[in-house]
Amino acid sequence: MVIPDSLLRRLDVPGPRYTSYPTADRFVEAFGPEDYRQALRQRAAGARVGGVPPLSIYVHIPFCESVCYYCACNKIVTRHHERAAEYLHALDTEIDLHVAELGAGQPVSQMHFGGGTPTFLTDQELEGLMASLQRAFKLMPDAEVSIEVDPRTASPDRLQRLHDMGFNRLSFGIQDFDPDVQKAVHRVQSYESVRDLIHAARAIGYDSINADLIYGLPLQTAVSFERTVSQVAALRPDRIALYSYAHLPERFKPQRRIDSSQLPPPDTRLRMLGGAIGGFLGYGYSYIGMDHFALPTDALAQAKRQGRLHRNFQGYSTQPDCDLVALGVSAIGRMGSTYSQNAKTLPEYYDALHQRQFPTVRGLAATRDDLVRRAVIMAIMCQGLVEFESIELAHLINMREYFGAELERLAPLAAEGLVEIDERSIQVTALGWYFVRGIAMVFDRYIHADQTRARFSRII
Ligand code: SF4
Repeated sequence: MVIPDSLLRRLDVPGPRYTSYPTADRFVEAFGPEDYRQALRQRAAGARVGGVPPLSIYVHIPFCESVCYYCACNKIVTRHHERAAEYLHALDTEIDLHVAELGAGQPVSQMHFGGGTPTFLTDQELEGLMASLQRAFKLMPDAEVSIEVDPRTASPDRLQRLHDMGFNRLSFGIQDFDPDVQKAVHRVQSYESVRDLIHAARAIGYDSINADLIYGLPLQTAVSFERTVSQVAALRPDRIALYSYAHLPERFKPQRRIDSSQLPPPDTRLRMLGGAIGGFLGYGYSYIGMDHFALPTDALAQAKRQGRLHRNFQGYSTQPDCDLVALGVSAIGRMGSTYSQNAKTLPEYYDALHQRQFPTVRGLAATRDDLVRRAVIMAIMCQGLVEFESIELAHLINMREYFGAELERLAPLAAEGLVEIDERSIQVTALGWYFVRGIAMVFDRYIHADQTRARFSRII
């Protein structure tokens, strides 16, 4: 599909990624540890009568050995590996607190280690952490267990150890293979090293390999990025996430080390995006939504075809909505209709856990309106289809009355050919999938009450 440049230009505005709704910038400090405990107790009560789906778990490892200048993550840059011991001890306490509320052996269908750099931890440390988690929770036999791997901290032997520990999915941060771009962002990793790791992961038997790329980085050109796209496609990762770089140096300190005069101009960014989309489709990948591609045989591509796609804090998923226990500094979880976030600094995080308190510092209990809008936004983001009847029955509203203003705001997008609206549904078109964030934004109550959208990355 050829996407007109004029459309890309008009619709490439800042917007949320909708890994949650309401988005994390709406969380409030009035939501604290006691609210989180209550949400866990409600889940425990539901579990006793067998009424809750399995859990998902996210573990945040914040340490990185060196800083990538484009980074917008919550991380701690250090070469002092001994700092991991105190952190792991705190994680153990946090796990214990969850067991005290939920009971031991809660089934888990999905577990993800992210960061920072999870592979900052040694194999022994990761084994210890996995053992703690397995004592506390019950990993289901077909659970997806994934870890983000920094190719600079991994070797084929390490990948084997990780597989032995139970990890069955890997995500590699590649970003760009061009050596000059890598130097400009302070993340140098050769194509050969990544290629060898991906080949090793295949030979070991990992179920799925994901590659992350970023366009819009300093010194990237349409030609250089096309080369990266073809190199990545040749490695055949099962999934590819293609992120757009948001240069917000006033918010993210490492980005101040990027020479803004080296950033590609908007026209080049558009050409990179168009080239990458066309490139991955041409290399046989299916477009999933927003910034994700997958091989047609991958479970995500199958789920998309069958309308079974879901979305959580890790992005698109094949797993239905689960309660998400988030462990570690700054981690964001979801329990029932609440969201909660842990303390963002290590001193605060450690302090709460020394007192055997949940380190929750902010969060949100979704209102009825939030839940209706979440259902609509997730239907757009995941199925590309909002069936009025199913939302009306689930939330006891009349779609046309409740969302009269939103349906009016959708009309120009319908005129552009991005959505089709009839009496019974809103359908995202094939072209509309590339702008699905912009379509979902129409239903975001907060964004329309707020003009500070520059804090979000661009929608495509
Ligand atoms: S991009 Fe990843 S590896 Fe680089 S500094 Fe940020 S968290 Fe660490």
